[in-house]
This record gives sequence, C-alpha cells and structure tokens, in this order.
Amino acid sequence: MFILTEKNQAAAVQQALRQRLKDTGVTVAHPGGEVLVLEGETFRLDGESLRLLPGVRAVQRLTEPYPLAARTGHPEDTVVSVGKARIGQDFCLIAGPCAVESSEQVTSIARQMSAAGAQLLRGGAFKPRTSPYTFGGLGAEGLELLCRAGRETGLPVVSEITDPRQLPLFREVDVLQVGARNMQNFELLRELGRQEKPVLLKRSFGATVTELLQAAEYILAGGNERVILCERGIRTFEKYTRNTLDLSAVPIIHEKTHLPIIVDPSHATGKANLVEPMMIAAVAAGADGLEVEVHYDPQHAWSDGAQCLTPDAFAQAMAKCRQVAWAIGREM
Ligand code: PEP
Ligand code: MN
Repeated sequence: MFILTEKNQAAAVQQALRQRLKDTGVTVAHPGGEVLVLEGETFRLDGESLRLLPGVRAVQRLTEPYPLAARTGHPEDTVVSVGKARIGQDFCLIAGPCAVESSEQVTSIARQMSAAGAQLLRGGAFKPRTSPYTFGGLGAEGLELLCRAGRETGLPVVSEITDPRQLPLFREVDVLQVGARNMQNFELLRELGRQEKPVLLKRSFGATVTELLQAAEYILAGGNERVILCERGIRTFEKYTRNTLDLSAVPIIHEKTHLPIIVDPSHATGKANLVEPMMIAAVAAGADGLEVEVHYDPQHAWSDGAQCLTPDAFAQAMAKCRQVAWAIGREM
C-alpha cells in the first residue's frame, strides 16, 4: 500500500504519521520524497480512514482486500468435492425446482435431472421472497422431502439457508446456499465459515465482484475453504430481463480468485426462453457449472414458473451445452 503525504510537511507531523501507521501493525518504509510504502497485513487497514490522518494526501492499495480468496496467494484452482462432483475441476450441473412443493414434485424432477446428467439436486425450502404474501417455502418439511428425493436418486442436495438458527435442520443437506439477498448477511457468513459443508455463495444483484469476493473471505476466514461462487445477474436499467447476466464476471473471477464460479441463468433472466442461450453462453465463458430451475409444469409452479425449464427443454439445452464444452476443450 502506498501513502502520498503532503508536500513540505513539518518533521513532527511526518514522524507522528509514521508512528500512527506502525501502530496498526504494518511496516512503514520511506523510499524518499512524499511516498510511504506500507507492507504486511495491509488488508486489515481501511484506506478511507487512513486518508483522514493528518499529513495524508492520497492512499493507494496495491493488493486485494481479500487475501484468502485471492489467486495471488493461492495460484491453483480450488476444487470442491460433493458426491461425484468435483466443482472447479469438472463441469458441474445443479438442477431442480425453485421451491420444493411436494414429495411427488421433487422426486419426479429429481429422477429426470439425474437421467439428464445433473450432479446435484437443488430445491428451496426457506425462500426469501420479495413479498411477504407469496409462497415462502415448506421449511423443515421441504428439506426433508428434498433430502429424501436426493437419497432416492443418489444426488447430493443444495438448499438455501437464510438464518444460522436453521443449521440443525440442514444436517442432511450437502451444500448450503447463500442467496443473493443474504450475500452480505455477515453473521450468516461467519457461521457458515465455522461449518465443514460446502457453501454456494450467490452474488447479490447490487454487489461488485470485489464485494462478492469479500463476502467469500468471511467464510474462508472462519476456516471453511469449500466455497463455490455463483453469478446470477445484477440489477441494471434494463427491464426486459429480471436481472442482467454479468457473464464478464466469470473470466474476471477466474483471474481474481482460485474459487470455482458457476452461473444461474434462471434468476439472471427470469424468462424460460432466455435460459438455454445463457446456459450455452455461460459454458462458453468458462463457468465451472450451472444452476438451473426446472419444473414439469411451469404454469403451476408455486414460485418462479416463468423462468423454469421443463425437463425436456433442460435435456435439449444440455445437449447443446455439451457441444460447446467440447468446442472449448472442456469435459462435461
Ligand atoms: C434461488 O436460487 O433459489 C434464489 C432465490 O436465487 P437468488 O438468491 O439468486 O435470487
Ligand atoms: Mn427461484
């Protein structure tokens, strides 16, 4: 980290500033002129606060504020193993209903997803809905039905957790999903950092890539290294789609971090007819996997029917994705 100090500073001000910086635990070098170089755990420092110190003109950070998530200190890809899936190494397909509705619904979709080649089954039981009057999920019963469908088909299951107090209910859930609305629920992130289970962390629709990686850092800092990131669209001025899929985030995230990154084209677009093209585009962009919502009767789905693919449409889209994966030299 560099600090540019005021010109012609009184020696006492300069001395006090250096002492103040050393007190934060970093080392301070003065190569000459108005520049101070800070080394050590500079990620612990808040650049905005440093800027307020007497004698400081500007602060320039050189390293990322997420040392554990950064690729610089960990050049090899992190691979998260769940069941037969090696997320970050082999392409991973997560599919299933937006919400678990009944035993028949989730079991039937699970069988079709397994046949179509999905490695993990998704299904929401605690749904963070924008309106308190829409279906909010079956809760504990939903998790039970999801886990039963997973056991029956041999698919590990993924479900969203919205509160650390729900953890006992998630005993049999293989991957804990943090939804876009909870990406900065820091108490939840800290608690998941103390767990051993993989965490699927979705990017908030209002977060930068840096903020997503700082959220991942909370989990890593707690000791849980099994973090999978997910791009699911950000909010822009475009109204045609539910969100705007930021596919450029995929190669950026590969450059910035060793963690795997998957793409959710369902919540990104909100429209079933756009899901297949965005699945294909995500594979082409180098995503490590996809999370897709599927329902055999989208018109009667209890949530997000407009963006659900039917199992047949999902299988057809997968066939096209496989061709793209082959074209870019990726196994699928
Ligand atoms: C979901 O995957 O069920 C979901 C609610 O997605 P998001 O958090 O990305 O909106
Ligand atoms: Mn949904």
